[in-house]
Amino acid sequence: METQASFRTRLLEAGILFPTGVDGLWGRNGTFEQVFDGLERAITAAGADHGAEVMRFPPAMSQATFEKSGYMKNFPHFAGTIHCFTGDDRDHYKLMGQMERGENWMEKQEPSGLVLSPAACYSVYPIVARRGAQRGVLPAEGALVDVSSYCFRHEPSLEPTRLQLFRMREYVRIGTREQVMEFRQEWITRGEAFARSLGLPFEVDVANDPFFGRAGKLMADNQRSQNLKFELLVPINDGAGPTACLSFNYHMTYFGDTWEMKTPSGEAAQTACAAFGMERLVLALLRHHGFDLAAWPAGVRKTLAI
Ligand code: ATP
Ligand code: ZN
Repeated sequence: METQASFRTRLLEAGILFPTGVDGLWGRNGTFEQVFDGLERAITAAGADHGAEVMRFPPAMSQATFEKSGYMKNFPHFAGTIHCFTGDDRDHYKLMGQMERGENWMEKQEPSGLVLSPAACYSVYPIVARRGAQRGVLPAEGALVDVSSYCFRHEPSLEPTRLQLFRMREYVRIGTREQVMEFRQEWITRGEAFARSLGLPFEVDVANDPFFGRAGKLMADNQRSQNLKFELLVPINDGAGPTACLSFNYHMTYFGDTWEMKTPSGEAAQTACAAFGMERLVLALLRHHGFDLAAWPAGVRKTLAI
C-alpha cells in the first residue's frame, strides 16, 4: 500500500506541487490548475439551474467584519491577521539592522485592518444584510449566492490535503428555515452526484468543526447531535482516514442574528452553505485517476471539459 508521504512525494517528483519551505503552503503547476479550472466549470454547471448570484472575494476581509462574525470565539487558533510597517525613517533603519542580524523586526508592524478570510461565505452575509428597502429584510425568495475566495487557516501539516491557504467555492443560501433546509438536502444529493460524475469513491457523514479549547468539545458534540454539519469524504491519503472535500453546513439563525437579516415575516433569517474544498478535490482526482489527464476516464474528462 502506498504511504501518505509517498503521495506527496509523487506529487513533488512529478512537479505538480512546488515546495515553498512552509508546511501547508504549495505552489501548483499547469496540470493541477487545469483540473482546478475544470472543477470550477463543473461546479458552475452543477448549480446553473439555481441562478445563484456570483460574488468573488480577495483572500482578506475587513477586521470589523471578521470581529463581528465571531470567528475568534470558536477558532482563534486558525486565524491569520495582516500587519504592516507603520514606522518612520529611523524605525526603518532599525528594522533593516534587525533583519540583517536575524533579530525580531516585527515591533513596528501594526494591524492593517485586514484579516485573512477563514471561509468564503463570511464575506457574503454583511453584504446581503445591507440590502433591501428595509435594510436586512430578505425578499420572499431569500438569497442564493455562488461565492469563492482564498481562505487561510493556521493548521500547518505535511498532508498535501491540509493547506494553510486554499480556495473555497460555496453555494450559500439565506432565507426561511424551510428554504435553507431544502437547499442543504438538495446539495447533499447534488454533491453526491457530483462526486459520482468525477469517478470518486466517497461517503457522506455527519461531522463537526474543530472548535477551540475545553468549551470546544461541547460545541462539537452539539453540532454533531443536531446534525448541523455533513461532509463528503474521499480517501486520498493512505494510512489516514478519508478527507472532507465538500461540507454541507447549517448555521440555524447564527448569521441571521449576527448580521440582523430577517425573513419577510420578521423572523431571524437562517443560513446554510455547500462548500467545495478546491485543492482537495483536485488532489482526490489525481489520487484516483493518476497524473496523466489524457488517460482519465472519458466521463470524468467530459464533466471537467478537459
Ligand atoms: P477538516 O474537518 O478537514 O478540518 P473543515 O470541516 O474544517 O475541514 P470547512 O470549515 O467545512 O472544513 O471548510 C469547507 C471545505 O474547505 C472543507 O470541506 C474542505 O474541503 C476545505 N478545507 C477546509 N480546511 C482545509 C484545509 N486546511 N486545506 C484544504 N482544504 C480545506
Ligand atoms: Zn460556508
